[in-house]
Amino acid sequence: MPELPEVETVRRALLKKVVGLKITDIKIKYENIINSDIDYFKRNIINKSIIDISRLGKFLIFNLNEGNIVSHLRMEGKYFYSNEDLDNKHVHVIFYFDNGYMLYYQDVRKFGRMEYKDSSELYTTTPLSLVGIDPILNKKFDYRLIYDKIVSRAVAIKTTLLDQSIIAGLGNIYVDEVLFLSKINPHRPSNEVTFDEVKSLCDNTKDILSLAIDHKGTTIRSYTSELNIKGEFQNFLKVHTKEYCPICNNKLNKDKINGRSTYYCANCER
Ligand SMILES: [Zn+2]
Repeated sequence: MPELPEVETVRRALLKKVVGLKITDIKIKYENIINSDIDYFKRNIINKSIIDISRLGKFLIFNLNEGNIVSHLRMEGKYFYSNEDLDNKHVHVIFYFDNGYMLYYQDVRKFGRMEYKDSSELYTTTPLSLVGIDPILNKKFDYRLIYDKIVSRAVAIKTTLLDQSIIAGLGNIYVDEVLFLSKINPHRPSNEVTFDEVKSLCDNTKDILSLAIDHKGTTIRSYTSELNIKGEFQNFLKVHTKEYCPICNNKLNKDKINGRSTYYCANCER
């Protein structure tokens, strides 16, 4: 599943391709991808131009000269930009541009969603109103913004860190890495995490996500970013998908937390 660094990588790749282009038509082949009335979606987007692409957590936002398209790739969503016919049974939405190119939204699992939002309601209505603090976009991101939210919960710290309404954009891979660097066992109840540990979680979250963005994200299983850019951060992972701890060489634990594969060192992470 694309996490913050992968979505940021897609954003940067798309930015170079589609900004300035006018959308002349849209073909919607699988209507459930669109989270609103289909006619409303089309009416508000056709004949608009893309002036920027922004991001909040794992949401991509195509900023139009009037209004916005909010897009979430979920498990397998991908965009392809081309002037060739790339249509296939996994392509569900096609945007046509005034330069003869198309933007294809392909999604094998069909879990991705997109919708049109007026600018006045972009951040005040769902889904973006439910998104927490983005550790990369918010330059003031530190322990003061999340300490109370973290220690008020009794669930496993990993579950809390995956909650997009607190920290936006951390997913399964990077949470394992952040907890390892912070030496915190992912099963530890959130309300037993200390003040210094929350500080450490914040610092490591920023460091890991920034480094992952520099390396264009992580390519595990099906994730490739738009235009076949391969992320390289899998070469820098310390515990996720690994067998042995890089610090003490103990065999890593591999458990499920909320159904998500969790890698950690029971010796180093307490
Ligand atoms: Zn260890």
